[in-house]
Amino acid sequence: MKVKLGVTGGKGGTGKSTVATNLAIGLSEVRDVVLGDLDVEDPVDHILLNTELMGEEPVKIMLPVIDYSKCTACGVCVKVCDTGALLSPKGGKPFVLPRLCSGCRACYFACPEKAISEGGRILGYTYFTPANVDGAQIKLVTGLLREGEEHTSPVVLAARARAESVANDVLIVDTSAGTGNNISIALKGASLAIAVTEPTPLGIHDLKSILELTQVMSIETWVVENRWGIGPDDRVVETARKYGTKVVVKIPYAREVVESYVKGIPIIKYMPDSRAGEAIRKLVSIVKEVI
Ligand code: SF4
Ligand code: SF4
Repeated sequence: MKVKLGVTGGKGGTGKSTVATNLAIGLSEVRDVVLGDLDVEDPVDHILLNTELMGEEPVKIMLPVIDYSKCTACGVCVKVCDTGALLSPKGGKPFVLPRLCSGCRACYFACPEKAISEGGRILGYTYFTPANVDGAQIKLVTGLLREGEEHTSPVVLAARARAESVANDVLIVDTSAGTGNNISIALKGASLAIAVTEPTPLGIHDLKSILELTQVMSIETWVVENRWGIGPDDRVVETARKYGTKVVVKIPYAREVVESYVKGIPIIKYMPDSRAGEAIRKLVSIVKEVI
């Protein structure tokens, strides 16, 4: 991998995946692009690219297996488990609640009787999908958490590792919304982040959070204002300036963007000469220059 870019945004639903998929397609004209969809609770890049996920690999984590013939009911494992995945009735032997277990192995190491061995369970999956979008070739790596599971980070880590292992040139990661652990895991090693926001009070509030995070991570960050026109944008511009960056592109709120969703064709291919298509092409062009 020669360069890693992150597409992120504090708030969900700002159009982060739209920007990531269009940017990947635009850059694929001149570079070999891998797009990593690390929004593991709700990955949608494959839907926006109108392709089926392929190349499934399970993401497994450790699940403790207790040998009750060795267990003395000392309770040490219950004390070291910080997710509440081990419970024991008063004075009794513990049992495991698999959904709460993060696979950290603390109980395995702590058990004085060596009564715990390593089992495993599937937490989610990663996929590798070569995608051809109207002649544009990109490789898509996707992380997907199994329904009902809570521990997202191992799946984000596995998907990031798979994306990095297949990226020879440019890797674009599409993060989940928010500013939590999974965002920093996804953005680790990125030389440029693109924070997608919208001109609403919530969009501006969450933009501050993501700009604070990327500042702490020392990642240069540009702001893309999506749905430009649905509200006054002076506060987006001001917020970007306050954090030492700028709004590089404003993507108008336009009918053609909605139509491109309905058709399942990214706007850069569906209507490249529309106002929204032009804004995306401008973004592709300035990213091309810096990488
Ligand atoms: S592996 Fe970690 S999270 Fe799972 S039961 Fe053991 S201590 Fe708790
Ligand atoms: S630490 Fe080991 S011996 Fe103690 S309760 Fe847990 S499994 Fe049993």
